[in-house]
Order: sequence, then C-alpha cells, then structure tokens
Amino acid sequence: MAIRDRDFVEANLVASERLGELRRVAEQFQVALTEEVAALIDPADANDPIAAQFVPSVAELRTSPEEQADPIGDERWSPLPGIVHRYPDRVLLKPSLVCPVYCRFCFRREQIGARGKVLGSAALARAYGYIRERPEIWEIVVTGGDPFLLTPRRVASVVAALTAIEHVQVIRFHTRVPIVDPKRVTAALVDALDTEKAVYVVVHANHPRELTAAAKAAIGKIVRAGVPVLSQSVLLRGVNDDAAVLEQLFRALVAMRVKPYYLHHPDLARGTGHFRGDIAEGQALMRELRRRASGLCQPTYVLDIPGGHGKVPIGPCWLHRDAAGWRVEDRDGLSHRYPRPDDTE
Ligand SMILES: *Cc1c(COP(=O)(O)O)cnc(C)c1O
Ligand code: SF4
Repeated sequence: MAIRDRDFVEANLVASERLGELRRVAEQFQVALTEEVAALIDPADANDPIAAQFVPSVAELRTSPEEQADPIGDERWSPLPGIVHRYPDRVLLKPSLVCPVYCRFCFRREQIGARGKVLGSAALARAYGYIRERPEIWEIVVTGGDPFLLTPRRVASVVAALTAIEHVQVIRFHTRVPIVDPKRVTAALVDALDTEKAVYVVVHANHPRELTAAAKAAIGKIVRAGVPVLSQSVLLRGVNDDAAVLEQLFRALVAMRVKPYYLHHPDLARGTGHFRGDIAEGQALMRELRRRASGLCQPTYVLDIPGGHGKVPIGPCWLHRDAAGWRVEDRDGLSHRYPRPDDTE
C-alpha cells in the first residue's frame, strides 16, 4: 500500500509540525513511497540516504531560473501521447505515468502521477501504429512512470504488440519496481517478458541499502529467465556523491548479475537544486571509481542536455592532445605518451 501525506507523519518519517510543509510540496509534486522503502529509513538519521530520495522536503519549494518543467525536452519530441522520439532508431513508449514511489529528484516529476494516468487502448493503438509505420525504429524503451505497475496481462500485451512489429528488435523496460516494490515481480510478470525478441530490463538504484534481500530475489527471477538486467543511477548530493557508496552500489549490482549502465547527472527539474552537485565533482568520483573497482562496475556518467538535445558521456577524460601527440593519464594520475600515426597533419 502506498504511503501518502498524513501517513508520513504516522510512519514517523515527517515530524507532525512539518505536515503543513509536506502538504505544500504535495500540492506541486507527486508524493508516495512503498512500505518496503519506508522500512529502510532510519527516522533518527537526519541525513538518511533513503529518506532523502523519497520523503518530501521544503527544499523542493525552492526553484531557480534555469530549472524547467520539462528539463530534457520530452514534449518537443513527442509526436503523439505516449511516444517520445528523439533519436532516429529508438523511441520511448509510456503506457502509464504512475510510479510505485515518487523520487524527489525525478526529471519527469511534472509529467508523472495520477494526473497523467494510463494510456487508453485507443492511444496505445495509435502509438503502436506510429512505430509500425517507421522501419528505422529498432528499439523501444518502455518507461513512464513505471511499466511494471501494469498488470502482467497488460505487460504481456505490450510485449506481444511490439514483438509483432518486424523491425523492432529490442524491447527495453525501465523500472524501479523490482527494488522498491519487489513483491510485484511475480512469475506471471516474468513470464510476460518471454518473447523471441531481445528484452532487457533496466532497474533504477541509487544507494546500496536499496538492494535488500527481497530486491535481490526479484531481480534474480528476471535474470534466471534469461533477461539481461542493467541499472541506472542518478548522482545525488547527500545520497551517493561519495566514492565508497558508489563502489558499494556498483559492486553489489554486478554481484547480482546487474550491469551498471548509466550514472545520470541530475536534470534541471524544478525544486531539485539541493540534489545537484557540479559536474567536476561527478568526474572526480568516476575517476576514483575507475581506480577502485573492476571495469564491470563502471557505468557511463551521462548528461541529458537541457532542451532535448540527447544524452552524452561527460567524462572524465583520460586523454589529452598536444604538439607531440597524445598524453594518456593512468589511474594514479601519471601521464604517458601515445603516438599519433605519421600521416596525421
Ligand atoms: C534516454 C532516452 C533514450 C535511450 O537512450 P540510450 O542512450 O539509448 O539509453 C531514448 N529516447 C529518449 C527520448 C531518451 O530520453
Ligand atoms: S521511478 Fe523514475 S519516473 Fe518514477 S518518480 Fe522515480 S525517477 Fe521519476
């Protein structure tokens, strides 16, 4: 059962004198968390990394001019409801905009939630039609909201509809359900992913404490069904902006057979400034992570360029060019020469 407003006070997650603030935040942004997530929070810890991600804070009422309602320009690239088509070969399909939890830093926080609801069957049919008419679409990212909140029957119908489109080769689900609401990963849901096309699942995890025994079991079911699982994380000040925490997170994921895919620099979503550090800090963390851990534990640190210009890796860069050729830095910061071919310049 989802925990909302007053329940936050009853669950001892928000002091009763802060209920007014909580309600002001909830008027602007969606608020919910699951019992599993609430149980991970230590109410005595004012800096609890789980609470920071899910418990509303008055800091969300502070916005800055560079923050936007649609920070990565999804609207601009949405030809019809439920579809975002920014790159030629892949589209987002959003069958539902509901989430099991509402992350306080969410980049889509002003699009998601009960207001957007579930795409009706006519709208979904139009979305499939759009994909069917465009042979250049190779991959579908099923996202939202959280697509694993749909019933297994509906997930199966999305998978069947996409499988039937010949040029669609890859179906990728982006979800937070296996981690924040693991009991929803039933045998029926896992069966719904079974198709002859390549299905990938990308889970969202930001702190090693999220990887509970139940979350591990849920992800294990998906992996054992032969579905590759990747992860994405958001670099969040006060949650995981620490090399030891990131190392623990990515090692734990790899040990669960989950490949860290992206570490996102936070987007310029409204009321999320308290989560955003500088890109230079993120680069230093990635450098340190490279020094400490296996290549399997290295996600790509990316920025979704504000305005809808797409995601790009943002370093760090180990390579520099000078008159004599390349200089490559090693993990200890020492510089080494690498030549350019004689015929360049
Ligand atoms: C993030 C995103 C994708 C997927 O990008 P990858 O870099 O392939 O993971 C596709 N379309 C849109 C609009 C996106 O925002
Ligand atoms: S699960 Fe994803 S879409 Fe939902 S609130 Fe969190 S970041 Fe946003």
